[in-house]
Amino acid sequence: MDVEPLALLPLFGLSTVIAFTVGVIAWRRRHVAPLLGSLAVVSMAIAEWSLISGILTQVEVGMTRHILATLAFVGVCLVPAGFFVVSQAMVNRAWRLPRRTALLLAIEPMFVIVGGATNPWHHLFFLPGTGTRMAEGGPLIWVHIAYTYVLLMVAMVRVFSAWAWGPRSQRRLYGFTLLGAVPPFLGNLLNVMKVVQGVDLAPVGFCVSVVVIYFLLVRFPMYELVPVARQNVLDMIDDMIVTVDASGRILDLNPAADHLVRGLMPEPPARLTGLPLNDVLCDVTLSEGTEADRIYANYKDSGVDLNVRISSLRDDRDGHVGWAVVARDITALNEQRRELEQANVQLHGQRRELEQANARLHEQLRTIELLRADLAEQAVRDALTGLHNRRHLMEELARLAAECALQGRPLSVALLDVDHFKQVNDCYGHGAGDEVLVRVAGWLREAAGAVAGAVAARYGGEEFVLVLPGLDAVAAGARVEVLRARVAAEPVRAGGRPVPVTFSAGVACRTAGQSLEAGQTLGAGQGLEIGQGLEELLHAADEALYAAKRAGRNRVELAGGLSSPGVAA
Ligand code: GH3
Ligand code: MG
Ligand code: MG
Repeated sequence: MDVEPLALLPLFGLSTVIAFTVGVIAWRRRHVAPLLGSLAVVSMAIAEWSLISGILTQVEVGMTRHILATLAFVGVCLVPAGFFVVSQAMVNRAWRLPRRTALLLAIEPMFVIVGGATNPWHHLFFLPGTGTRMAEGGPLIWVHIAYTYVLLMVAMVRVFSAWAWGPRSQRRLYGFTLLGAVPPFLGNLLNVMKVVQGVDLAPVGFCVSVVVIYFLLVRFPMYELVPVARQNVLDMIDDMIVTVDASGRILDLNPAADHLVRGLMPEPPARLTGLPLNDVLCDVTLSEGTEADRIYANYKDSGVDLNVRISSLRDDRDGHVGWAVVARDITALNEQRRELEQANVQLHGQRRELEQANARLHEQLRTIELLRADLAEQAVRDALTGLHNRRHLMEELARLAAECALQGRPLSVALLDVDHFKQVNDCYGHGAGDEVLVRVAGWLREAAGAVAGAVAARYGGEEFVLVLPGLDAVAAGARVEVLRARVAAEPVRAGGRPVPVTFSAGVACRTAGQSLEAGQTLGAGQGLEIGQGLEELLHAADEALYAAKRAGRNRVELAGGLSSPGVAA
């Protein structure tokens, strides 16, 4: 079927506009995905090819047609090469067009364009007198077509294998790409089958392909971004990451790992990839399921502490493909840990010292407390006899008087004075005199111990006081009389000799009635009244003592005209 060329004009026009638009948009978005940059070039080539194909439908023969046909070769040659590049980049994310491949891909177009331009001299592209119709092309046109088919087939096979064996997540992308590649083949088939004659519909078919691929790439935008981002992250992080293939050889190292490994090797090779992992990094025997986590202190005498973790890598069909080795420099971490441990030990030591100081302080406080108690005791005791001293006696007397007044009980006081004590000193010596005083004090203590709450005290010199709460004058006098008789009967051994000792005593009593009469109830502000009462009581006892002395000594007298205990007994 011979198609009227004019009828195809709108088709080429549309194809030109669409390919040009896609080219512009893809070029602008090439930063999103580098693949879009390659696609933009392909798209522009299709636009150029379509435009010239459209114009050629209006030009029959002659120089103009020849020039246009030669120009069309720019697009004609760029399109298959461009699709080849796009297919490589689509399947292998990290792939970038190597300079060598770019040069190789440029060779054929150069020949074609130069060959096309010089056709009038050799007619190897277009037979003489046949214009530029492909069906009437020379032998080199067929060589070019064969080359184009090979290039496109390689691209298709690449995408097909990715579709069949690549990651499942990308299957739809590759599947639709393969479908998108069908239109140009159909267009070409129509020409070859001579369904459409005189016009090459290939640029229209390629236009459809480029639109499909553009939308697929926009539909899967992360397709290129994710690996790029991942690559950047791997390049940036301080952790050393090594990818090892299933044979245990290094596939890839990030810059941190490369730096470490080179630093450890005396003469590092130009390329570390391809070397066995065990020669380079660690001595772990790798087998399919190997998972390891090891710590190397001062790794290979480098002064670096390393934590090396090895984990098995599996593809999305769970096949073992190799290992990922992540090594982390833990020198600083270990240093910090050591410092922390040291600080901890120091802290422990300081704590122990503090505890010891605390214990010492406690001990000192206890000693001070004992000393203070001792001092307090000394302050209330008489140094020679150990009895309460006069000052304390007055306090105790006031307390006992208040207690007895409250309870309505009598309180008696006996004032004792050793007879002719001056003579004891004079005859036996002052030391013997002291011994006598100590002995008398012992008797008094015993006597006080026999009466609940009673207090014995040294009043001064050879004078003593017995406070007897709860006893009236007669009962108190009787007790003192018993004591007098005992002392008089038993000479004291002092200075190695028996010393006869007697004492005289005066006893006075405050009864409950007396207290009440004097209005001496206990209450605030009445201490003075009680104090005055006690002075009177002691004075009465002293009066009675004086009476006893006058009456010849070695006797007990009761105050207030009561008969003497000796008489009463
Ligand atoms: P009287 O029977 O009248 O009480 O005669 P006296 O000698 O006991 O009385 P005097 O008041 O004349 O003498 C008391 C003596 O007691 C005088 C003093 O030297 C002596 N004396 C006072 N305190 C102590 C003491 O702590 N130790 C000794 N060894 N003698 C003391
Ligand atoms: Mg005296
Ligand atoms: Mg005396």
